[in-house]
Amino acid sequence: MAEVSTHALKLSGKISIITGGASGIGEATARLFASNGAFVVIADIQDELGQKVSNSIGPQHCTYFHCDISCEDDVISLINFTIEKYARLDIMFSNAGIVSTCKQTVLDLDLTQFDKLFAINTRGTAACVKHAARAMVNQRVKGSIICTTSVAASKGASMRTDYVMSKHAVLGLVRSASNQLGVYGIRVNCVSPSAVVTGLSNRSPEEIEKTMKVYEGLSSLKGVRLSVEDVAEAVVFLASDSSKFVTRHELVVDGGLTKLPDEDD
Ligand code: NAD
Repeated sequence: MAEVSTHALKLSGKISIITGGASGIGEATARLFASNGAFVVIADIQDELGQKVSNSIGPQHCTYFHCDISCEDDVISLINFTIEKYARLDIMFSNAGIVSTCKQTVLDLDLTQFDKLFAINTRGTAACVKHAARAMVNQRVKGSIICTTSVAASKGASMRTDYVMSKHAVLGLVRSASNQLGVYGIRVNCVSPSAVVTGLSNRSPEEIEKTMKVYEGLSSLKGVRLSVEDVAEAVVFLASDSSKFVTRHELVVDGGLTKLPDEDD
């Protein structure tokens, strides 16, 4: 009988970029990618934090690169840096995102904040997908592109109108890009988490704790709280050959949430 390795590395030798990798879901994913044998370029605007995370993962597996995804030239430089350093790009995890400083219904939508949020969450994500896909097509790499959306995108019942819209647009990007890139063997999917404690929210720890309790109550999996590592596991699945026939998919990681609370991220 063949020996089965319990330590098979799911991303052995794969070259990956993770935007927003200095914190939260991106950081947890960078750690899990590296422990599964991938080389990771963390792209973020928090240089000190990103460098610290990269150092703690180790220079043989991780590098930090400053990239503001709302600036297309930064995204192009990020891709060029990765190709120059590792000669290839296999995985793009386009994960960086923000929320507005205040919650808004459509009645009091702040359109200046709206533009800022869209420049990062939607336009920035589109730039990352565009340039990663171009590199993969040029190099004939059958890569995997994963975006981070949110349960708020599909459920929509949120005070954060601009955020919901921005993530809904990313869902549209995933659906069209997957159709267009399938011919090159490139898969495009997204991971869609419910609430998880990260640096995203500008609320107090007490308010965050209150929100997490509300989400726990609405989840089908009672008494279980979503962690950034749970989301990272889902991303590893979408990045790896375990999902080689999966594209155009929204992998919802929400414990079977039946509805969103009125106030959410
Ligand atoms: P986080 O704040 O911990 O991480 C986001 C990272 O993105 C930060 O390191 C930040 O510096 C970086 N970033 C922000 N703007 C950037 C830019 N212009 N260019 C490059 N990097 C930038 O938050 P998180 O929760 O880990 O967020 C990751 C993704 O998960 C986001 O897209 C967010 O919308 C999504 N999400 C979060 C939750 C949640 O409850 N935390 C739920 C669903 C979806």
